[in-house]
Amino acid sequence: MAFDFDLFVIGAGSGGVRAARMAASYGAKVACAEDTHLGGTCVNVGCVPKKLFVYGSHFGHDAADSAAYGWTMGTPSFDWPTLRDNKTTEIERLNGIYRGLLDGANVTLLEGHATITGPQSVQMGETTYSAERILVAVGGEPFVPEFPGSQHAITSNEAFYLESFPKRVLVVGGGYIAVEFAGIFNGLGASTKLSYRGEMFLRGFDGGVRAFVAEELGNAGIELAFQTNVVAIDKADDGYRVRYADETSETVDLVMYATGRKPRVDGLGLAALGVKQSPNGAIEVNDQFQSSVPSIYALGDVIDRVQLTPVAITEAMCLTSNLYAGGEQIMDYDNIASAVFCQPNIGTVGLTEEAANDRYGKVDVYESVFRPMKHTLTGRNERTFMKLIVDPASDRVVGAHMAGPEAGEIIQGIGIAVKAGATKAQFDATVGIHPTAAEEFVTMRAVRANS
Ligand code: NDP
Repeated sequence: MAFDFDLFVIGAGSGGVRAARMAASYGAKVACAEDTHLGGTCVNVGCVPKKLFVYGSHFGHDAADSAAYGWTMGTPSFDWPTLRDNKTTEIERLNGIYRGLLDGANVTLLEGHATITGPQSVQMGETTYSAERILVAVGGEPFVPEFPGSQHAITSNEAFYLESFPKRVLVVGGGYIAVEFAGIFNGLGASTKLSYRGEMFLRGFDGGVRAFVAEELGNAGIELAFQTNVVAIDKADDGYRVRYADETSETVDLVMYATGRKPRVDGLGLAALGVKQSPNGAIEVNDQFQSSVPSIYALGDVIDRVQLTPVAITEAMCLTSNLYAGGEQIMDYDNIASAVFCQPNIGTVGLTEEAANDRYGKVDVYESVFRPMKHTLTGRNERTFMKLIVDPASDRVVGAHMAGPEAGEIIQGIGIAVKAGATKAQFDATVGIHPTAAEEFVTMRAVRANS
C-alpha cells in the first residue's frame, strides 16, 4: 500500500524535529505537524527563555560586585518589558530557524492540530493523511492541582509573558522549575518565597546538594517555607491572598505553581485506538519507542522517562537510525548529566550518595565547600559545593555533584569521565587547570570522615 508519508511526526519540539530531520536524511518521506510554535517547550517556554531570564537576573548582583573591582556603575534599575520582549524576539528568531531546519531537510510541515484516527492515519482539519508509521512527540505541559482559587495561580508558561513584574511572588513546588524561577524572581528584585510540601526540596537530588542549595537560596534572600501547603487563593484588592493549611495567610502579587508537568495528549485520539498509557497519560513504549499499537511510536516528554531536551534528541536519533538506517541501538539512560539553573546552579551526573550507598553497600565520599575566587574581593557570602562519590571496590567515580557558578558547564566535562567509567585514581592523575573552580574535582584527596 502506498502511504502519503513514511513517517508522520506529531509535535515539532526538540524530539519531533530531530526525528523528522533524521528520518528524512535517511530517505524517508516525512511530515511534521505542530499546533503551536515550532521548537516545543525548550525553545518557547522552557530551557531557552528560562536561561535568558537567569542571565538577566544576575546583573543586579554583578553591578554591586563590580564596586570591589574599582567600577562605578550608578544605581542599577530593571525594566521588565525590555527583558521580556528581547527574549520574545530571540524566541521568534529560533522559531524561524526551526522552520528552516524542517524545510531544508525536505520535511513537510503541517501547521494545525493532528488527531490520530487509525493505526496509520492522521486527520488535520478536513484532510486525512496516511502514514506507514506515526511518531507522537507532543511533549508535556505544566499543571496546577485543583483547589479553591487555583485558577489564580499561573504556571511557568505564563511567567514568560507577564504584563508587569510582580513585587511579591510565591512559587509553589520543589522541583527544577520551582527553584529556577524562585532564583529568577529573586534576582530580578521581587520579594520571593518558595513553598514546598515536603521536608526538603529537590527530591531525587543528592542530599548534600539539597541541603547546601537550601542554605544558599536562603542566603540569597529567598524565603524557603518547607512543609507548607497552600489550601486556597482569593483575589484581594492588593493582590492574591494565599491561605495555608496551618491557617496562616499572606498577600502576594503573583502565585506561580511549579508542581510538575503532564503529557500533552488531550485530543490526540490515543484512547480510541487502544494506545496504552500510564495513569498520568504518558504513552507506554518498549525499548524501540513502539507503543502497544505497533505502527505508533512515541518519545520525549510524552513518554515521561527523563524529561530533558537532550534525552528527547538522543531518543530521536536512536529511533530513526534503527528504523531507517539499519541501526540496532538501545537508548542508554545511565549517567545522564543535567543542570538546574537555580542560583547557585546545580550540575549533577551519576548516582546520589544515597543511591550509591544502596547499590554498593558503602561508598567513599569526597566533598569540598569553598568561596568562589571572584568573591574574595566582593565579600559576597556565596559558596561552591562539590562532591565525588566513589565505589571503593572498583575505584570508579559513580557520582559527581556540584552547586556553584557554571556548575552545568563544569559537570558536562565530568559527565564524559563518569560515563567512560573513570576511576578516582584517574581523576587524581589529571592535572588541574588553575585557577578554576573545576580543578577542585581533580584535587580532592581526603575521604569524608563519616562516609
Ligand atoms: P518536578 O517533577 O521536578 O517537581 C515537581 C514538584 O512539585 C516536586 O517538588 C513535587 O513535590 C511538587 N508537587 C507535585 N505535586 C504537588 C502538589 N499537588 N502540591 C504541591 N506540590 C506538588 O516538576 P517540574 O515542573 O519542576 O519539572 C518537570 C520536569 O521538567 C523535571 O523533572 C525536569 O526533568 C524537566 N526540567 C528540566 C530543567 C533543566 O534541565 N534545567 C528545567 C525545568 C524542567 P514532591 O517532591 O514532594 O513530589
